[in-house]
Amino acid sequence: MSVLLTLFPGQDPLSWKTAFAELLPDEAVWLDSEVPDPSLVELAVVGARPQADFSHYPNLGAAFLLSAGVDHLIRGGLPEVPIVRLADPAMAHSMAIYATYWTIHFQREFERYRADQAQHRWEARPTSVPADFSVGILGFGTIGQVVANMVGSLGYPVNAWSRSPHEANGEKHFAGIERLDGFLAASRLVVNLLPSTPETVAILNRERLAGMEPGSFLVNIGRGVTIDTEAMLEALDSGALSGVTLDVFETEPLEADSPLWDHPSVHLTPHISGDTLLATAPAVVAANISRWRRGEEVAPIFDPSRGY
Ligand code: NAP
Repeated sequence: MSVLLTLFPGQDPLSWKTAFAELLPDEAVWLDSEVPDPSLVELAVVGARPQADFSHYPNLGAAFLLSAGVDHLIRGGLPEVPIVRLADPAMAHSMAIYATYWTIHFQREFERYRADQAQHRWEARPTSVPADFSVGILGFGTIGQVVANMVGSLGYPVNAWSRSPHEANGEKHFAGIERLDGFLAASRLVVNLLPSTPETVAILNRERLAGMEPGSFLVNIGRGVTIDTEAMLEALDSGALSGVTLDVFETEPLEADSPLWDHPSVHLTPHISGDTLLATAPAVVAANISRWRRGEEVAPIFDPSRGY
């Protein structure tokens, strides 16, 4: 029984291999360079696109991703076997903290107080309450639901938008493209958690951004391609949007000459809101591999027809 381990750049091969070898004592765990014979590879744990083409492994039965998204692999060619995405509660928790931090930042106007401080200005403004600051979760999947629970627990009214209807758990739910405009108009701050699919590319376009309540906020931790960057910059400059925080971009790393770097109303981080953690991800993936070996159900499985 054997597992090929292909990692993201920057992940220490020895630490990850050791973690998987301890969790899966019945499997031979090989890094790319250690595979004795490609026909012996049965399963693959996949971070970034492996150097070796998946077609070199004729007996590959399934791929277990070290990421929730699949778009970086689609570009390089996905293996034609079942693909199991990563759903790590610790990653979702980390992203919920990120989104909650920026929700509080914008709702409590910490941006303005920072600017006041730079001017040595002492000016208390009336404090808004969370109940008056609705947060919209665009993409109400594994991670979106954890974000909704965290901001909701602080008293922010939560709107949720997804493709299919979901059981409401305190949040106001909007399903389907025909309800997107209503969702955006009802949300003072939108947290984007949509995957990159043919349907979601530039889904936040000029018209939709213009339909948001003037002075709204945007936090993008899903995928960069889902927002029309030029239209977003125009919305910021016109005051339609008051501020944005971006963790993901159309091109990563962000181009050196991107106007986003220096825009006063843009905060950005280099795709760190939900890292794949050595402390937790191997156990999540190994549990799925063990279930697979026992012939049990594994989730979440990538559905090529939906694109996520
Ligand atoms: P997920 O469980 O598959 O959830 C995706 C959500 O998006 C679902 O609610 C789905 O609707 C909705 N959706 C997809 N296409 C749609 C469409 N065309 N119209 C309306 N709703 C649509 O995914 P997840 O695990 O929460 O991850 C979400 C994304 O976060 C990933 O794909 C990845 O791009 C991003 N991510 C980023 C980081 C980071 O560090 N920045 C880390 C991890 C993940 P249904 O509920 O109806 O299916």
